Amino acid sequence: MSLPPDYHMHTPLCRHAVGEPAQLAAQAVRLGLKEIGFSDHSPMPRDDFDEWRMRADQLDEYVAQVEQARREHPGLVIKLALEVDYLPGGEDWIRDLAGRHSWDYLIGAVHYVSDSWAIDSPAKISEWKNRQPMEVWTAYFERLTMAAESGLFDIIAHADLPKKFGFYPKEDCTALFNRFLEAAKKHGLAIELNTAGLRKDCKEIYPSPKIVRRAAELGVPITFASDAHAPEEVGMNFAEAVQLARSAGYKESCRFAKRRREMVKIDS
Ligand SMILES: [Zn+2]
Ligand SMILES: [Zn+2]
Repeated sequence: MSLPPDYHMHTPLCRHAVGEPAQLAAQAVRLGLKEIGFSDHSPMPRDDFDEWRMRADQLDEYVAQVEQARREHPGLVIKLALEVDYLPGGEDWIRDLAGRHSWDYLIGAVHYVSDSWAIDSPAKISEWKNRQPMEVWTAYFERLTMAAESGLFDIIAHADLPKKFGFYPKEDCTALFNRFLEAAKKHGLAIELNTAGLRKDCKEIYPSPKIVRRAAELGVPITFASDAHAPEEVGMNFAEAVQLARSAGYKESCRFAKRRREMVKIDS
């Protein structure tokens, strides 16, 4: 089986990852991957917004490092992308970023449910104790749906990120998931099957099998993502992600080039 492209990986510019792009690419080659994509955390309008992303003046350096990885690994297809945080009101900034380089794709991600709380931040885990899980999940999925409707992105990252630390609502979230997935379908977005969840407390791929099955029913396309923050995480647990995709009924995943989508068979 040849593994599908790994479209979500980070670099040390985001200040919480290790391994230069060329080292991650070398790991991909070792695993037999044919294609990868770098999607590091994009800058915010203010560099002091948080401390886990590149600064705005590092974008060119990021692009140069990805180009260096391409030179060192000519047999590997390497895409240039960003994981962009969606916050309501930030649309103009995202449009500006989109025009700075010829990105192959942009991944839209919601980490912030307010301007100050990133729900996946270990430093802010105590915030979860102040709120009901359903309140957080609802706010998160509302923003994720807005991100899908914004028309700014090609792929939506880790769609059920609020499960990371295991804070699940007792209530039924089906309506939240459906609203998001219908927006993704309508606006032509893919969702990623992100294996980083297997490395967190939730011990499950993002998103859950239930969401993946519903996405398949609606015809929402998929990509595969390790969300690697270190070379050894490249392509990690991809066999499991492929199995999840297949069990939900997927036969194809997608590739991107200069923000145009192409469907490709998932090898078995
Ligand atoms: Zn990260
Ligand atoms: Zn993320």
